[in-house]
Amino acid sequence: MTIRVRFAPSPTGMFHVGGARSALFNWAVARQGAGQFVLRIEDTDTARNKPEWVQGILSALSAIGINSSDPAFEGPYFQSANAGLHRDAAAQLFEAGRAYYCDCTREQVTERTGKPDAGYDGYCRERGLSYAPGRALRFRTPDDGETVVADRIRGATAFPNRAIEDFVIARGDGTPLFLLANVVDDVDEGITEVIRGEEHLSNTPKQQLLWEALGHTPPVWAHLPVIVNEQRKKLSKRRDKVALEDYLSEGYLPAAMVNYLMLLGWGPRDDGPEIRAFGELMAQFSIDDVTKASAFFDVAKLKAFNGEYIRALSIAEFIEVCGPWLRAPHAVWAKDAFDAKVFAAVAPLAQSRIAVLSEITSYVDFLFLDEPVLDEAAWSKAMKPGAAAMLRSAVTQLTEAEWNAESIRAAIEAAAAEQGLKLGKAQAPVRVAVTGRTIGLPLFESLEVLGRDRTLGRIEAATAKLG
Ligand code: GLU
Repeated sequence: MTIRVRFAPSPTGMFHVGGARSALFNWAVARQGAGQFVLRIEDTDTARNKPEWVQGILSALSAIGINSSDPAFEGPYFQSANAGLHRDAAAQLFEAGRAYYCDCTREQVTERTGKPDAGYDGYCRERGLSYAPGRALRFRTPDDGETVVADRIRGATAFPNRAIEDFVIARGDGTPLFLLANVVDDVDEGITEVIRGEEHLSNTPKQQLLWEALGHTPPVWAHLPVIVNEQRKKLSKRRDKVALEDYLSEGYLPAAMVNYLMLLGWGPRDDGPEIRAFGELMAQFSIDDVTKASAFFDVAKLKAFNGEYIRALSIAEFIEVCGPWLRAPHAVWAKDAFDAKVFAAVAPLAQSRIAVLSEITSYVDFLFLDEPVLDEAAWSKAMKPGAAAMLRSAVTQLTEAEWNAESIRAAIEAAAAEQGLKLGKAQAPVRVAVTGRTIGLPLFESLEVLGRDRTLGRIEAATAKLG
């Protein structure tokens, strides 16, 4: 049997990193089994649905290496297009006696059971109601026996059928609920393995009953561990940064994201490095090795991965990916102040230092701004007593120096010696005077690229400011 997996997002306007991980794991399984990856947009919640969100899903998938032009990719299919099939399935279950209509309100159920959160009590089971607006269709769960869900990650779990309430499969207006629509679509699309987030685990016994009642063999299930933040709380869009788009637009490289996401709940069997090529990750992935334990979304680790990916780029690639940050709205300098040659001169120095592309502007802005940024904290940290004298010595020495990094270094060393300072201490006021910051590219190379006139002008301005 050909493997057919699917990724079934509900469009919400952003692409959750957890969704990205599910998509990647499904993609790996499809590719390994020479199978198909089906994209199904679960768009029945029409009030929240927008066509541009579908485009967003397709471009996010393509950013993480899942291209709709790949022969393994099928779809997108739209759940809304299957509405007829959903209704047919509901009718089939009703006619076979596997479902019944119910007109109970929540209040009535609570009154009868005495508990507000108790499941349905089966009141309408034998009332023989037919459809009328306002009557929900409930699945009649078996009275005895058990439903055994075999999950490739969690093993087999037996659910006594008695404990599964008669759940609603179609609303009072006849529209099918998620539980049913999702199963009918999986059946229709010939899905053989359902690999999805742990939050759907509780739906699984109910959905397995639906597969069987509709006359089909249930798929293989695999529920991926929940992704948590530093406080071990499930990643949530209210609390955490969860949108893949946000990471990409902050300057995380798609390849680094993919590598990191693949390791959320899974790891290669060998003890080799965690940084691996896409093809290797896809080939080595095994759903059976995915853990049950929740996966910590460690932004610091992601950042470290990203730094490694940045350093692995060729210099030309690095300059290319920095492009968007060197222009408005990210760049703080005037458009015509930017000089690609100047940037190219410092690019290798920046490449070895930044972990996220958005950091690039703070490393190079001193080259393209008329005056360095004024960071008060940096200023007070560097401009200790004696700073003015150090700056004056620096001006004297630099005025005489040849303008290359080596001579600049010698000049600053000489100035430091005059002031009885260690080189590290002596550099700080010069750096802040010239770049406005305490952290940045190597100082001597920075000054070389900035040029003598601008360097001396800035040091003199800072000295004047110190009085
Ligand atoms: N649309 C569901 C979700 O986004 C998918 C459910 C499933 O994968 O079965 O959570």
